[in-house]
Amino acid sequence: MGKTTSINLVGRDEFEVIMEVFARCTDAYMFLFDLDKDEYIISEQILDKFDLPCNHFFNAKEVLEKVIYPEDMPELTEDLEKIQSGKSDEHNLEYRWVDRTGKIVWISCRGVVIQDSTQQQKTTILIGRIAEIGNKQKADDVTGLFAERQMQIDFRRNKGAGNCKTGVLLRIGVDNFKEINERYGMKTGDAVLKMIADCMEKVGGEDRCYKLDGDEFVLLMDGGDIKQAREQYHKIRSLIEKQRKNQGYQNFYTISAGVVGFSYDKTDFEQLHNHSVFALSMAKKNGKNCSYVYIEEDYQAYVKSIKIQEKLRYAVNHDFKGFEVYYQPIFSPDMGKIVGAEALLRFSSREYGMLSPGVFIPILEESGLIIPVGEWVYRTAMRQTMEWQRLMPKFRININLSFIQICKSDVVSGIMASIDELGIDPSTVLFEFTESGMISYDDSVQRLLDVLNENQVKIALDDFGTGYSSLAYLQNLRVNLLKLDRGFISKAVRDEFNYNLIGYIVNMAHSIGMKVCFEGIETEQELIKLMKLKPDYIQGFYYGRPVNGETFYQNHLNG
Ligand code: C2E
Ligand code: MG
Ligand code: MG
Repeated sequence: MGKTTSINLVGRDEFEVIMEVFARCTDAYMFLFDLDKDEYIISEQILDKFDLPCNHFFNAKEVLEKVIYPEDMPELTEDLEKIQSGKSDEHNLEYRWVDRTGKIVWISCRGVVIQDSTQQQKTTILIGRIAEIGNKQKADDVTGLFAERQMQIDFRRNKGAGNCKTGVLLRIGVDNFKEINERYGMKTGDAVLKMIADCMEKVGGEDRCYKLDGDEFVLLMDGGDIKQAREQYHKIRSLIEKQRKNQGYQNFYTISAGVVGFSYDKTDFEQLHNHSVFALSMAKKNGKNCSYVYIEEDYQAYVKSIKIQEKLRYAVNHDFKGFEVYYQPIFSPDMGKIVGAEALLRFSSREYGMLSPGVFIPILEESGLIIPVGEWVYRTAMRQTMEWQRLMPKFRININLSFIQICKSDVVSGIMASIDELGIDPSTVLFEFTESGMISYDDSVQRLLDVLNENQVKIALDDFGTGYSSLAYLQNLRVNLLKLDRGFISKAVRDEFNYNLIGYIVNMAHSIGMKVCFEGIETEQELIKLMKLKPDYIQGFYYGRPVNGETFYQNHLNG
């Protein structure tokens, strides 16, 4: 037991008054716990966050049990028993409470035992404070600006005061802050943050600026409108530019901004926070060094994409249920018969039905889920192909590969291992890449191409004609097949220039040993016209749409 705390100069009523005074001077919650009467008094503000019936109650242990995280209850009970039995006269515990929203909040609870000198009987009273450990500090050390917590307090105060009905929040982020820190060191990073803070304060005038976590800032414009907020952003940018010039361009950085207009009566802080995070991320997505004004429809689309991502992840973790590989026939016009198929991924869920790859492939790529899904696709497609090869030994399968699979995983080892394990003839397998990925090709692309080439696996450049269509770099890639995109092909049907251009591309490809596939032929007319350009393969709705394995077999391989 520590030294006895016999602060018994005043009575309980006085303690209550003192407690109330302290409650006004701190963010922590002051409390008084009479262990003998099982009576509890705590600062009124606690009721905003935690679901207690009121701030003064009896049956304290029973009532508190409702907000204390169950697993932490035994530890707390033990500590209080020590106090009550006189073995301890101090309380100092960190444990968990659960707030009104069900969120766990770590708290630090400290108190000392006081003897009430005004009572005849001995009473053990614990007086102290409860502080939320997660609470961030109110001001930022580097910039001197208020921190996010203060912004929350100010927002709620403004909302409560009702002086202003609307406002705008301008959320600013440094575009390449990580790079600044890595390249020039943390000191320069701090100087950059300080410079931005100073510029924001100057431009902001009466409006309050806040420094958030990382490299982000907020200007809260009470009563402002979107136009003014964008003007403020441009003014801040100009001032930063001026300062950088004055300092002799020691570093380079740009800032982006998300702008969110709101009305106090309809918006709560969490919502505003989420919308501003989204708005800033859109500004960065749109190329950085720009501002983006929040649009509800964009946000809803983003929320939908997050929901789809959750469904995709769930499917990946549940045996790929919901994914299906479809097959579209590829024909040889010379032979007038099917030579193989392209494997095309589909995803269905109860909520969204069958989604187009145009919707879910980018989500798979952004989340990295394309890596396991892509592997599942090539293994499923190869297995299916081997089955069909029993009927048609040279049946070929084209499989799409995403640039993310190539750059962020060892896809080539996975492919080669699967080919070995399944025992498929590698020369009947072809991987398709899109031009956008290939144009910026690096070591991993080169290694992939080399290994596939060495092992007789074929390679196609997909969607040729949608990107830069540089013929020069084709030489470096050693691609076996060029697939001309439907957009390009349909232009050739309509105008002579594109018709001649495609004729030239086919000749050029043939002259360097490449084959050409025309994608997206839908009608007989298109087929007749384009056949004259001598493609090696045709793929399009005219010969067949992508369908599941069973239907493909029925339509194209059965008899
Ligand atoms: P892609 O690889 O260029 O595939 C050809 C797309 O053109 C397919 O769209 C196909 O249905 C469509 N198409 C074929 N013939 C015609 C036609 O005559 N008319 C029209 N209007 N369209 C035709 P789909 O299946 O919607 O796939 C879209 C894209 O999604 C694919 O383009 C590919 O880039 C991507 N994708 C599909 N499956 C996978 C996959 O397993 N992995 C990866 N990384 N991407 C995939
Ligand atoms: Mg393709
Ligand atoms: Mg294509």
